[in-house]
Amino acid sequence: MPDSALSPSLNAAIGPTGLVLSVVIPIYNEYDSIPLLVDQVGTVLTEMNLPYELICVDDGSTDGSADLLRQIASRRQDLQVVILRRNYGQSAAMAAGFNYAAGRVIVTLDGDLQNEPADIATVFHKLEQGYDLVSGWRQSRQDNTLTRLLPSKLANWLIGKVTGIELHDYGCSLKAYRAEVAHDMHLYGELHRFLPALAFIEGARITEIPVRHHARRFGQSKYGLGRAFRVLMDLFTIYFMKTFLTRPMHIFGSFGIVSILISLALSTYLAVIKFFRQADIGNRPLLLFAVVLFIAGIQLLSFGLLAEMMMRTYHESQRRPIYRVREVVGCSAHRDQPGA
Ligand code: UDP
Ligand code: MG
Repeated sequence: MPDSALSPSLNAAIGPTGLVLSVVIPIYNEYDSIPLLVDQVGTVLTEMNLPYELICVDDGSTDGSADLLRQIASRRQDLQVVILRRNYGQSAAMAAGFNYAAGRVIVTLDGDLQNEPADIATVFHKLEQGYDLVSGWRQSRQDNTLTRLLPSKLANWLIGKVTGIELHDYGCSLKAYRAEVAHDMHLYGELHRFLPALAFIEGARITEIPVRHHARRFGQSKYGLGRAFRVLMDLFTIYFMKTFLTRPMHIFGSFGIVSILISLALSTYLAVIKFFRQADIGNRPLLLFAVVLFIAGIQLLSFGLLAEMMMRTYHESQRRPIYRVREVVGCSAHRDQPGA
């Protein structure tokens, strides 16, 4: 392909495999969509005229999706299929896709044809303009209003307020990432939805761009109202990560110090009235209060230390994989990756 078609920044970033674009699609029971999906995405990518690969991650489907993908991969040079041992959830499936992606840019989309394959080019070209992450914005989203649109409006607002990066549509799967941004993420739970927020915390340049959205043609959504609750819980986690996780000792420790200082001030006051005014302080509630504050202060300090130590273990333990790969099928040379 003519490399000159790429922006200088992406040109320079082409890695040893020569791949520019990896498209990652998580698949959980999408049998009916798969042939059309691979076809359409393949056509769009061929038209983009750059070295690409398509990675479908089968997230423990039970409807024969994995076998179907396997068959298609035997006929196509551009498709790699990563089959997970069981259903680990969309975030884990995406993490697996990221791990196998060799392109300098990664674009993700859903496997149910709700995203428009032609928009892969839209987010890719936006990224070229100098962003690290481009998020799709489904301006006319084709989902149920009560169970999906309203909760997600609320979620977008909340996530924006908590994380400081306000996007209209966190939940849109169609996103483009500079590879290093995607590779730095440790996904679990529902965290794929917060990728822009996590990337923003790491200093990524983020923008959004309107994309199309279609109603689901085959099968059903894997999610309902229950996800709104899980997303809310994960939002707490993000907030915790943003503020507490980095230096818990700074938070708990400062409360501890303040508590001890107040306790010392109260004790000094009590000591002054006992020794200089000869007052009896034995039955003063203030004395008890000072003692309690002192103990609380010591406890907060120890808790901060403990949390600090836990955080170190936490960061170390991030190396633990959140999914297991059963099999990898198809596609070129860079196949000897550590199966996560
Ligand atoms: N998905 C997955 N694992 C899961 C649930 C979903 O890989 O446990 C995939 C699913 O096949 C689809 C994408 O994630 O490609 C989004 O799922 P879905 O379309 O059900 O979500 P919605 O569009 O309703 O938000
Ligand atoms: Mg969908």
